[in-house]
Amino acid sequence: MTSPAGSTPSASHQRRLGGSGLAVPPISLGLWQNFGEQTALETQRGLVLHAVDAGIVHIDLANNYGPPPGAAEASFGRILARDLAGHRDELLISTKAGYRMWPGAYGEGGSRKHLLSSLDQSLDRLGLDHVDIFYSHRYDPTTPLEETIGALATAVSSGRARYVGVSSYSARRTREALAAADTAGVRLSVHQPSYSLLNRWIEEPDASGESVLDVAGDAGLGVLAFSPLAQGMLTTKYLDGIPGDSRAARGGSLPPSYLSLRNRAAIAALAEIASDRGQSLAQMAVSWCLRDSRVSGVLVGARTTDQLDENLAALEHLDFSAAELAAIDENSVDGEINLWAARSSA
Ligand code: NAP
Repeated sequence: MTSPAGSTPSASHQRRLGGSGLAVPPISLGLWQNFGEQTALETQRGLVLHAVDAGIVHIDLANNYGPPPGAAEASFGRILARDLAGHRDELLISTKAGYRMWPGAYGEGGSRKHLLSSLDQSLDRLGLDHVDIFYSHRYDPTTPLEETIGALATAVSSGRARYVGVSSYSARRTREALAAADTAGVRLSVHQPSYSLLNRWIEEPDASGESVLDVAGDAGLGVLAFSPLAQGMLTTKYLDGIPGDSRAARGGSLPPSYLSLRNRAAIAALAEIASDRGQSLAQMAVSWCLRDSRVSGVLVGARTTDQLDENLAALEHLDFSAAELAAIDENSVDGEINLWAARSSA
């Protein structure tokens, strides 16, 4: 690991994760996509090492990242063993369980059985004895919340996780999770929601009258926002079609329907605002998420090191004028791109 003091010094300017004692980089790298078996291990290795060298010491995973599920953890485990073994305690490694890991019995959900077995399997693939953050990946309406949060408490008390959190929980379920955590004697440290200029649901109050950001701010829960580039939509690359090497072309989580005329018009207008600020749209999208002090950091994805470098340079310009924020508000439409909305409204 070389010194992070290079062309992107700000990545090491960590921010506090809510009221916890943990500091996190403002930009972290997620291995949801580009870390499956279809991507050469050398390419993955190049991305991870580039990120870590730039100060991105937080790598976010989940049991099911791949494809196939488990592949991203297995690859990262190999990279850890080969290149980063002496640096384990300088890295912040997270994983999650809740979405389908395998078909059939106990392959998903929020039960104690699934969460703890899945965590053991994750540790095995990663070659670690603990992760730094373990998340309930989604609220499971078929499992008592006390059971899900109790399993997170066990993850901490058994030494398998240092911190725990929830992902894509609504404001109401987050409040309930905090209460359950109190009862279980564990601290919930972080919420991981989707958030971007085209997907601002965490700002909106739900039926409980509060928003996720309200609850997080009030409870000292850190927020690590995922998909801040709306899976790559918040760049200029889709304005004239779908590039062959892009996520939308691969036919997965970014369907062509997301690239509606309305969304592309909003993206074009936002790109102009970014250009007036002297940033690319990707950079402004990242800076904008970080403008709210309740958001401790963002989790970006990257297919190339150039993408990562471009996104990291967002940290050189984090301030917004009131006029810029107003212009952004006019153009940051709800793009109906929240893949995770069903989980967050349960
Ligand atoms: P994102 O940062 O919104 O999108 C990343 C993708 O956008 C890249 O893979 C790349 O795709 C494109 N891109 C990135 N930078 C670019 C640039 N400068 N110029 C052009 N294109 C660029 O984030 P994400 O990958 O959707 O999610 C990030 C992480 O959040 C995940 O890895 C995961 O850790 C976390 N996450 C969590 C959940 C959850 O349920 N908790 C769900 C989703 C994600 P292409 O080049 O291939 O188009």
